[in-house]
Amino acid sequence: MEKSFLIKPMLDEIYPVIDYGKGVYLYDMEGKKYLDAASGAVTANIGHGVLEIIEAMEEQAKKVSFVYRSQFTSEAAEKLAKKIADWMPGDLNWSFFVNSGSEATETAMKMAIQYWQEQGILTKTKVLSRWVSYHGITLGALSMSGHTGRRARFVPLLEDFPVINPPYCYRCPYNLEAPACGYACANELEMAIKRIGADQIAAFIAEPVIGAAGGAIAPPKDYFKTIKKICEDNNILFIADEVMTGFGRTGTVLACEQWDVIPDIVAFGKGMGAGYAPIAAAVASEKVMAPILAGTKSVMSGHTLSANPQSCAVSLAVLEYLEKNVIIKEVESKGIFLKNQLEKLKEQFSFIGDVRGKGLLLGIEFVEDQETKTPFPRKAFITQKVVRIAMEKGLLVYPAGAGIDGVNGDAIIISPPLTITEKEIENLLLLVKETLAAFSNQINAETVG
Ligand code: PMP
Repeated sequence: MEKSFLIKPMLDEIYPVIDYGKGVYLYDMEGKKYLDAASGAVTANIGHGVLEIIEAMEEQAKKVSFVYRSQFTSEAAEKLAKKIADWMPGDLNWSFFVNSGSEATETAMKMAIQYWQEQGILTKTKVLSRWVSYHGITLGALSMSGHTGRRARFVPLLEDFPVINPPYCYRCPYNLEAPACGYACANELEMAIKRIGADQIAAFIAEPVIGAAGGAIAPPKDYFKTIKKICEDNNILFIADEVMTGFGRTGTVLACEQWDVIPDIVAFGKGMGAGYAPIAAAVASEKVMAPILAGTKSVMSGHTLSANPQSCAVSLAVLEYLEKNVIIKEVESKGIFLKNQLEKLKEQFSFIGDVRGKGLLLGIEFVEDQETKTPFPRKAFITQKVVRIAMEKGLLVYPAGAGIDGVNGDAIIISPPLTITEKEIENLLLLVKETLAAFSNQINAETVG
């Protein structure tokens, strides 16, 4: 291949060039086939190469690809906003479209700050969050992210918004078990609010299932109810970052629905366009929009490509595809089957510490010792090794972990397209087993050597 000037994640590595994708598989130029058990980055929720989506894209492109949001609206954007309002629990009715998950969480942050400003309260500007979390890469979103590895270089530019421990039951900092713990980690929020002052805090943001930073860490039963109550009692909005979980990944449209909680604002991304177009959204409830509608009359944010008609048409087609093919309903049973099978691998591979997650957002955490839960040394780059072996075997899994703080261990996420069939799940499991067996051989050889 000719010299490349494309900046890639690791410039000293060679990346396969993908030729095409079909369903859960991707094919590179050399003809190698990959089972996309990560949906890229938990994005390709309906699989690759779905013609209906491409046709919707083409149809819109033939009419108009771009109109500027302060001059025009479009049928596609209007229909998408209406569909989202129909699908949302409660009165989460108002959509603001952006182009990435980071923009969505930052817009949610700005909506929350504006909500208080419109009521004459100018001091409520902080958006608290948890450690072992990820809300995006732009500086505002990174300020909310408790991902030490991704924060490290930019700390002087960031706000100290991560303030509490995550509901990481496998490594509970209190050495307790839910529900007997009384959700001690959620109650930390109450203490943080007291310390910082509710008059300084606009909102609290959390991922319903912790993704990139932790590896599919789902909370215990009443965790989010406890969090929501603390927010309500202290006059703080609750933002759910559903960028990874939204639109069916865990078996319900919002993952928050699994714990009977309705947020004040939701951020969506990834699965919203399922990889067919860059589209994301911040969706606000009637309560949040009321003072904004009565005051400034719009959310004070926006991007050139916000509500881009072509992206909106694609997202609408993705949601219609999910609906027409009754895909979300099947996620729970597929997820339970896959999780049970992964769980069984613990007996075979002593380096599997924890198998966890919800729906088709599953995680495996690797440990040096199953009994003591001792993580591998960070410098052993275990996650990267597993991901690389998997790729060699034709299996894509997503690397997770907070990076440099050693609080949590190495983990991968397994999150195939929601459309995956039973037979493809069997194939996925076979490839996972092959990968872990090869990894086992590798670490045994390293120990002996
Ligand atoms: N929030 C969550 C929960 C995410 O998983 C991600 C992406 N991994 C983001 C925000 C940022 O999204 P994007 O990469 O599209 O900016």
